[in-house]
Amino acid sequence: MKYVLVSGGVISGVGKGIIASSTGLLLKTTGLTVSSIKIDPYINIDAGTMAPTEHGEVYVTDDGGEMDLDLGNYERYLLTSLTRDHNITTGKVYQNVINKERIGHYLGKTVQVVPHVTDAIQEWIERVARVPVDESNAEPDVCIIELGGTVGDIESAPFIHALSQLQRRAGKGNFVQIHVSYVPVIPPGPGGEQKTKPTQRAMSDVRSAGLNPDLIACRCEQPLDQSTINKIANMCSIEPYQVIAVHNVTTTYHVPLLLEKQALIDTISQMLDLRAPGMKRDPE
Ligand code: ADP
Repeated sequence: MKYVLVSGGVISGVGKGIIASSTGLLLKTTGLTVSSIKIDPYINIDAGTMAPTEHGEVYVTDDGGEMDLDLGNYERYLLTSLTRDHNITTGKVYQNVINKERIGHYLGKTVQVVPHVTDAIQEWIERVARVPVDESNAEPDVCIIELGGTVGDIESAPFIHALSQLQRRAGKGNFVQIHVSYVPVIPPGPGGEQKTKPTQRAMSDVRSAGLNPDLIACRCEQPLDQSTINKIANMCSIEPYQVIAVHNVTTTYHVPLLLEKQALIDTISQMLDLRAPGMKRDPE
């Protein structure tokens, strides 16, 4: 199983869901079977009890699961049918661990966040990533995992720990992380300066949390200047091709095209060593 983790820094609502869906769509166009998992680090079991003013309308999956609306984006972009288990929340993970504790699963051990909760998160991801999600009924080749919230939030700490362990377990060539950041323009508008400091901080935060992103997707109100891309690459010690520019577009269905123009398929397929039929593997 190959994983693509999409995480976010700087601010919430930066476009992780759209980037996760768009990346999945691009991989799907190469003939791969793609699944997706959304992690919501809140304590609610699901979005069913939350007012729509909190995180948007509830999205209902075919099995009756009441989910975050990002699951709807995944299903529409990837033409899949997901289940309630494709949305992992802190509430669900703790419920799972506490239920096991009550039946003696831990054999008298002290049950702790590390390793019991973090192991439960990894087991959940590994199990659900393999569930067939489209009419091919085949085990997916790639699972896109979106980590909701912002890296650095207390709530997401166990998930980040679990994901960094999953990255190690999956092994080289099986795990790619895209960290989504925000580049403000000050003052806003055409003459403004594209500020890279929040992205530098976001990278430093995610690295100190134990994850080392392979790509930084930078959301910006306007197309990123080459000098901005070079500065981010330089300050974050990565190559310019690892900086993906995602400017504001009139419809989010244009985001896959934006990513495709920056050779994201080639970059990810090389990083994940994907050899699907029809996949272009050499950068143009
Ligand atoms: P997150 O998952 O980080 O919370 P979302 O993917 O849900 O963010 O996007 C937040 C909002 O921003 C949504 O309304 C989405 O349609 C919009 N959005 C995301 N990316 C873009 C973009 N490149 N251009 C314009 N709007 C976007």
